[in-house]
Amino acid sequence: MKVATRAPSTVTRVRCALYRVPLKEPVSDAKVTTGRQRPLGDVDVVVAHVATADGLEGLGFSYSKRAGGPALFAHAKQIAPLLVGEDALDTGRIWEKLLWAAASVGRQGVAVQSLAAFDVALHDRKAKLAGISLAKLLGSHRDAVRCYDTTVGFLSAKLETVIAASERSLARGMGGIKLKVGGEPREDVARVAAVRKALGGDVAIMVDANQAWDRAAAKRIGRRLEEYELTWIEEPLDAYDVKGHAALRNALDTPIATGEMLSSATDLRRLLEADAVDVIQPDAVRIGGITPYRRVSDLADELGVTVAPHFATQLHVHLAAGQPREGWVEWFDWLDPLFEERVELRDGKVVVPDRPGLGLTVSPRAGEWLLSAADLPES
Ligand SMILES: [Mg+2]
Repeated sequence: MKVATRAPSTVTRVRCALYRVPLKEPVSDAKVTTGRQRPLGDVDVVVAHVATADGLEGLGFSYSKRAGGPALFAHAKQIAPLLVGEDALDTGRIWEKLLWAAASVGRQGVAVQSLAAFDVALHDRKAKLAGISLAKLLGSHRDAVRCYDTTVGFLSAKLETVIAASERSLARGMGGIKLKVGGEPREDVARVAAVRKALGGDVAIMVDANQAWDRAAAKRIGRRLEEYELTWIEEPLDAYDVKGHAALRNALDTPIATGEMLSSATDLRRLLEADAVDVIQPDAVRIGGITPYRRVSDLADELGVTVAPHFATQLHVHLAAGQPREGWVEWFDWLDPLFEERVELRDGKVVVPDRPGLGLTVSPRAGEWLLSAADLPES
């Protein structure tokens, strides 16, 4: 009888789990104040565990804010069996295989965001196999990356609270803070002025309009904000308005940032090719994982554009460490309840963990927020 041989890196089992992680309190940005969305109270996270014949296991995740989590989970469950029997080291080929398996529903959005969890898990496993961090696997340039705190500056927070929280953040090692704008323009400018005055001239301050403005408003308000020497103005316009961003960039001295809401590498490439941004903000999970992220960040670097990935500090610190030009990572603690480990801050930067892979393990407490789980193949 012929005995089938299995390479150590053969995928034997895949587990997907859907969690709904509550925030400490609901938050609002300009997408809420302009009536397009409701305040955000939780984040849906799909965690993927990919196990191989040698006993190693990779961990990856994807997420959705507001609607979409159950769709991500359903899609992930449907494509997960395609991983079984594959060589886990073939990350590029597996990415293409999972992409084309669902090409009928598109090459962006939910279709790529569900496969992102597997792409991240395969890279995590590959780094664990080598006994090195994901950053080292990708070819690291630094052991810490500048970071700023987004959680202090929501529109739902009062000005005094924003200032007090910003001071606490900077004191504990954050390199900058981000303020949400996109409300009443005079109030926006007054908030920025007050925070700049309170924190002093040396602190990095970013503002984020979350697509609230039209082209004329962005130019007018952007000009009034110039004197506060912001590190960047983020999402001044609709995320897909490539020409608008390019024109605004020409009109203002303050750097223009966008990209977090785009859900494919192709969409981000259009911004880069049009010279539309000073800072590009890919979200590796939103565009399909590390495989497409690396394409975007390599192109951005080639073009002299700063890369400041969106959300998911635990993942993006590794990717940002792998870029030649130092960008910024965005500090959030929203995913913390799921994991045992915490992001370490030092001198305005997030330290790249030196644990193997992403350096993350799912916390036993995570079960509290588990909505559903599936093991494939089913046993
Ligand atoms: Mg943003």
